[in-house]
Amino acid sequence: MLIVGAGPVGAVCALAMRQHGIDAHVLEAQPADARADTRTLALSYGSRLILDRLGVWDTLEDVTPIARIHISQRGALGMARLSAAAIKVPALGYVLPYATLTAALKRALHDAEIAVDYAVEVAHIESDAACAALRTAAGDTLAAPMVIVADGGRSGHGKSAPAAPDPKISRDYDQVAVVCEVQTELPHANQAFERFTPEGPAALLPKGDRYALVWTASTADAQRIAAFPDAEFLAALYRHFGGRQGRFLSASPRKTFPLKLACAGSEANARVVRIGNAAQTLHPVAGQGFNIGLRDAWELASLCGDTPVGALGSPAMLAAYARGRRVDVLGGVGFTDFLVRVFSNDIALLRHARGLGLLALEAFPPLKGFVARRMIFGARG
Ligand SMILES: Cc1cc2nc3c(=O)[nH]c(=O)nc-3n(C[C@H](O)[C@H](O)[C@H](O)COP(=O)(O)OP(=O)(O)OC[C@H]3O[C@@H](n4cnc5c(N)ncnc54)[C@H](O)[C@@H]3O)c2cc1C
Repeated sequence: MLIVGAGPVGAVCALAMRQHGIDAHVLEAQPADARADTRTLALSYGSRLILDRLGVWDTLEDVTPIARIHISQRGALGMARLSAAAIKVPALGYVLPYATLTAALKRALHDAEIAVDYAVEVAHIESDAACAALRTAAGDTLAAPMVIVADGGRSGHGKSAPAAPDPKISRDYDQVAVVCEVQTELPHANQAFERFTPEGPAALLPKGDRYALVWTASTADAQRIAAFPDAEFLAALYRHFGGRQGRFLSASPRKTFPLKLACAGSEANARVVRIGNAAQTLHPVAGQGFNIGLRDAWELASLCGDTPVGALGSPAMLAAYARGRRVDVLGGVGFTDFLVRVFSNDIALLRHARGLGLLALEAFPPLKGFVARRMIFGARG
């Protein structure tokens, strides 16, 4: 089995394959000693269970649990609180640096003696009825019954192939995320905030003794906001977010990334399957995308474990994978897209409807339990 990309999804897939007795060979474009990526990940409790089963969870440091989530909308009534205790899980989710997770997975790949070739960029993939073959940028060729593309959806954008297929579902939200870490006057006490505003959602995720901020703004505003000097940025954030955590005291350098929905689906071409961000890129609201990607990896490995060796990568197996992932992926895509479109506007009727929705969520525990389980375990949770 060949896996393109040793990001979290590719690495989890390789480790899960090994648990099912299947050998994977991973090709990663970055060198082994690449500079650590500074982005932050929000893992659901369901993703923790996957990492637990792979023996990776206990090796992770710098993990901050989310005990409660406070959901509100700016300038209107309605608020809801979700709590881990209420639905009897240790945490609703966990916040950790991307670099922490990839480093732990890298050690696990090494300990499991899974072959990983670093600094090898895959340039081209082709397949026929008998096997799939890939060519590296250096011109080497490798073949296997199946190629799993876990390249984060990036290959189609650079000079390197394999080109991603045209997305079946896509939307440009004309929104950009401004991300950084902020210190607030009040300690976070493991509470996350999701605040909806007409310009887009803003999230504060507890991370160490600070918060990771994801501030969504229109494309036109985001670069301007990110470029504010610290004092101006902190004051603007206070106006945008409100004073629930007191004043904002400091902020790390800001980064931006564009937000879109692109879903190529799991419908697999002959002997080639895309998983993780390579298959679907979601808006970060409600933290669905990354967790769906880990479930892609886990489910694909489980299915491979249940498939006779001779049928690995066959059209029947890949069709079964696509069928099995459909509800979870489309559920996550629909849920995320619904939140962005219904909450990112200032239409009075919708504002009142949203307020009623949040009040109902707050007042009706079974609904809270449903939403929380949906966010933790996905549409099939
Ligand atoms: C800037 C940014 C900020 C984000 N912030 C958040 C956040 O705050 N919270 C959150 O939950 N999610 C966030 N996300 C989303 C999250 O990073 C992804 O959901 C997650 O990384 C997907 O994992 P993956 O393994 O599918 O892809 P990636 O993590 O992108 O890993 C893909 C891997 O494939 C390798 N690769 C690419 N092309 C090739 C090739 N041709 N040959 C070989 N290897 C290749 C890459 O080097 C990389 O190691 C963010 C994404 C971005 C881009």
